Amino acid sequence: MPIPPGRILSYSLVAVPDSRPSPQSASDTAPDVIVVGSGAAALAAALAARLGGASVLILEKSEKVGGTSAMSGAGTWIPCNHHARAAGLSDSPEEVLTYLRAASAPGWEKTEEHLWRAFVEQAPKMLEFVETHTPLRFALVQEPDPQAEKPGGKKLGRMLSPRPLSRRLLGPLAPKLRRSTLPHRFTYQEMTGEDPYGHPVRAAFRLWPKLLSRILTDSAAQGNALMIGMIKGVLDAGCRLELESRVTELIVDAAGGRVEGVEVERNGKRERLTARRGVVLATGGFEWDPELYKKNFPGPMDMIGSPPTNTGDGQKMAAKIGAAIERMDQANVYPLLPTTYEGKPHGMPATFQAHPHAIVVDRTGRRFVSEYDYNIGYELDRRDPATGEVLHLPCWVIADARFLKAPRLFGWYARKRKGWVRTAPTLEALAATIGVPADALKATVERFNGFVRAGRDEDFHRGESVWERYKTHTPGAASNPALGTVEQAPFVAVPLNRSTVGTKGGARTNEKGQVLRPDGSIIAGLYCAGNAMANPIGTRAVGSGTTIGPCLTWGYICGTNLLRENR
Ligand SMILES: Cc1cc2nc3c(=O)[nH]c(=O)nc-3n(C[C@H](O)[C@H](O)[C@H](O)COP(=O)(O)OP(=O)(O)OC[C@H]3O[C@@H](n4cnc5c(N)ncnc54)[C@H](O)[C@@H]3O)c2cc1C
Repeated sequence: MPIPPGRILSYSLVAVPDSRPSPQSASDTAPDVIVVGSGAAALAAALAARLGGASVLILEKSEKVGGTSAMSGAGTWIPCNHHARAAGLSDSPEEVLTYLRAASAPGWEKTEEHLWRAFVEQAPKMLEFVETHTPLRFALVQEPDPQAEKPGGKKLGRMLSPRPLSRRLLGPLAPKLRRSTLPHRFTYQEMTGEDPYGHPVRAAFRLWPKLLSRILTDSAAQGNALMIGMIKGVLDAGCRLELESRVTELIVDAAGGRVEGVEVERNGKRERLTARRGVVLATGGFEWDPELYKKNFPGPMDMIGSPPTNTGDGQKMAAKIGAAIERMDQANVYPLLPTTYEGKPHGMPATFQAHPHAIVVDRTGRRFVSEYDYNIGYELDRRDPATGEVLHLPCWVIADARFLKAPRLFGWYARKRKGWVRTAPTLEALAATIGVPADALKATVERFNGFVRAGRDEDFHRGESVWERYKTHTPGAASNPALGTVEQAPFVAVPLNRSTVGTKGGARTNEKGQVLRPDGSIIAGLYCAGNAMANPIGTRAVGSGTTIGPCLTWGYICGTNLLRENR
């Protein structure tokens, strides 16, 4: 069936170099491939399929392009990458697999190892492919693996992030690029190295020539750069992108065996579109579907940091045609500060709990994790294996007066949610305010203060790991700046429950990105990537960018295999 263009929001660029497949137009009949979504996973799939010779239609339900990926920090975990090699840093697939086995949640190697292998093999190829065919250029970030001490872990070389790009590259589509809650004029490296949240004036002073140049050229870094590059790449390659086009159903052939296309809602009408060679679902997470979210994440939840369009459409459509839906209890759980986005309450990622004069306690008033641990989200979300109920929530950041006095942007964001920060003249009064046993809280604080005075956190070794030393900017120092007493009134409590920037459960796929049924058989013509898939790296992160790197890679895997498998 012919593809009618979306309302006013159908984009394609005309200048296509001779070496590329011939351009598509709105008058094309059924495309070879329909990609659902316009985030990192979707556009990597679209680019790979298009440059493999297929005609590609990208359907995005929002009036904005780029999804969560455009909002992100775009910290990108790609082991064995060519930038690290050029910098003389060694890595090998075997080391990465050793690390994945050691650093992932227990037992995951039993079901995920074949997917890890595919990821490790394809991720470096994807990076070279993306840098060859889009304006995107990545740079190494000076960040270690969060569990660098584990076998196969690395102190440097696996983390990358895009160099800034001008929004002007997108021409008339530029205003449609999804904006972030994060300050995207800064690069990921500048965010982690210069700490503009903690030291805004110092960071602005040091970086002002670069910031000024970026303002003058309307350049952005992080997730906006990632998606400027990917969007420019897919449009230059000749993909068609349609906004405000919500895919509502997968169309299966009469025998019920093969996905042949999609039903899409646009301009107030529903239409059926055929995809000759396959459909890629890359619709992101389901965190904005209250029912699905609550069912899979019981207990208190604080904030969500992704765009409200992530309502689990891909998961629901795949389930409806018999796909195995797995890992629905996994998510990118990260502390968020209150902010507003598109006029509504929202969350912005920030490790605000990692402060010398603050600790995190659970509902019993006890600590259960190092407050500087990258995987604090995994611990906040820890479940009772028998019942699936959360073990620690509700949790609280407990701090002293110095937490509020520090020259940080915390206060600015805290003011956006009335009553979010609670204070009391004593720990007893604070405990009563938040409903935590006062004796236990006092004992926890006393024990922690004792560790601070002795110079060592005997319980959770706060500030000692490679990651935590990097975060306190003291890799070789003898002292431990992560440790400070909690003793000066007024005392402070801030809720620290589960917040998320995206769920990670969905359609179970094989190493080619093909969607599987519960019996392991393949649903022909259907592929899935990114947060819409049963992500082989779950809540327990192995790198600080362990969604964007895999999202791009699984999109690339889908796009390349789709052409091989569906000739
Ligand atoms: C502020 C922030 C910072 C982050 N920083 C990092 C980081 O530094 N490193 C990292 O690895 N991760 C980070 N993340 C997480 C990361 O951004 C996401 O995990 C990742 O972008 C998900 O990519 P995706 O391609 O799967 O989906 P998305 O980028 O969310 O794209 C999905 C798209 O599908 C569209 N869609 C949904 N349903 C339909 C439908 N029915 N029809 C058509 N379109 C549909 C959505 O509108 C959306 O545009 C961050 C997230 C946030 C919010």
